[in-house]
Amino acid sequence: MIAALGFARAHDLTVAVRGGGHSIPGYSTTDGGMVIDLGPMRNVRVDQAARRAYVGGGAVWGDVDHETQQFGLATTGGLVSTTGVAGFTLGGGIGWLMRRYGLACDNLVGADVVTADGRFLHVSEEENADLLWGLRGGGGNFGIVTSFELALHPVGPEVYAGPLFLPAEADVDLLRFYREWAPKQPDAITTAVSLATAPPLPVIPEEWHGKKVAIVIAVCAGPVEDGEALVRELRTIAEPVADLIHPMPYTFIQGLLDPLWPKGINAYFKAANLARLSDETIDSLAALHLDTPGPQCEIHVHQMGGAVGRVGQGDTAFPERSMPFVLNAVTGTPDPESLGAHTEWARSVVAAAKADETGRAYVNFLGDNGEAESAYGEETYRRLVALKDEYDPTNVFRLNQNIEPSA
Ligand SMILES: Cc1cc2nc3c(=O)[nH]c(=O)nc-3n(C[C@H](O)[C@H](O)[C@H](O)COP(=O)(O)OP(=O)(O)OC[C@H]3O[C@@H](n4cnc5c(N)ncnc54)[C@H](O)[C@@H]3O)c2cc1C
Repeated sequence: MIAALGFARAHDLTVAVRGGGHSIPGYSTTDGGMVIDLGPMRNVRVDQAARRAYVGGGAVWGDVDHETQQFGLATTGGLVSTTGVAGFTLGGGIGWLMRRYGLACDNLVGADVVTADGRFLHVSEEENADLLWGLRGGGGNFGIVTSFELALHPVGPEVYAGPLFLPAEADVDLLRFYREWAPKQPDAITTAVSLATAPPLPVIPEEWHGKKVAIVIAVCAGPVEDGEALVRELRTIAEPVADLIHPMPYTFIQGLLDPLWPKGINAYFKAANLARLSDETIDSLAALHLDTPGPQCEIHVHQMGGAVGRVGQGDTAFPERSMPFVLNAVTGTPDPESLGAHTEWARSVVAAAKADETGRAYVNFLGDNGEAESAYGEETYRRLVALKDEYDPTNVFRLNQNIEPSA
């Protein structure tokens, strides 16, 4: 890693650092520059007694879940198991365990980092703690992380979890219910609403394949027998198209969405943190759900709060802690010609919620360049620039939601 970085510097090459390769704006590749690919570094070692996982910089979440579940342990990982631990954790990390155990970056307790000038640093609360603060949400701006030390928690092997499919006619009722229900729930449950198109899966009645549906996905991160009570009210909103919430292996819910996100798809995401969900926003989201340029255009509303909201604002570089919802307009298409229409649709979804935005956003859900300053907000961005000045003053690591050094 040190030699690769030295070579790139000596030849004045633009550096792209690649972990799992899921960057939506394509930050982990470059034309004419040098890709430092950590893909072969997918090692995961579990210290069962200390409840820690030591994870290579190129591992994906499926690697981590596979190893940690051998011991009935887990940490907050991605909703798709092929997402890289590196970019996901460094940007924040929204996943099914977050309301119980925090974001992925809240579980980052240590890291090995190669800095822009080729130094190898260990980072923890005791050593280079300023850098740990930046790695918890500041993205790949400060160095190449070769190893992550993640806190683990007892989870599974079975959890009460899964998707509940409702007809799209229930969009408005669901979101109005959800805005009241979600903030009152205990940490044990994490959910998201997805206004989407029913995939052609045998578990969904065939007449619904390709039709618009409202989906609530729930994961109860405690004893399976507590799950039914936690999701009971969700089952009262409308007659379901399919109710697939039941006990299942934790690794199953972690890989459930994988087939919908094959490699090579043209993707665009756009996101905003929401302070509320007004009637106007709900009506607009429901209308946009019915008017999409393709089947893989989804409106996700993530339930935040719980352990995420109890970390102090400013304790990590993750921009915001108090918002009840994160809105993410998610699109994918196999046809590059239609990416423009998908991008416009996603932008219109976020624009429709403008009046409810807090003004900040989660950087890993942003598909455009140059959005870091507004996403982090003034105070966090100012601290990130000071850290960038110290660890990467010439902006070697600039293929990311970039924190621009002041010089
Ligand atoms: C299908 C899909 C599903 C997703 N689901 C979720 C989700 O559930 N929750 C969520 O929070 N986000 C999700 N995301 C967003 C995801 O968190 C980001 O795309 C994240 O950056 C992916 O990390 P990666 O390592 O796979 O990406 P990469 O493309 O490899 O890298 C992303 C960024 O991180 C930097 N980077 C990568 N590896 C390292 C390293 N070892 N050291 C330093 N910097 C590094 C890169 O330079 C780049 O800037 C999803 C994205 C996709 C495409």
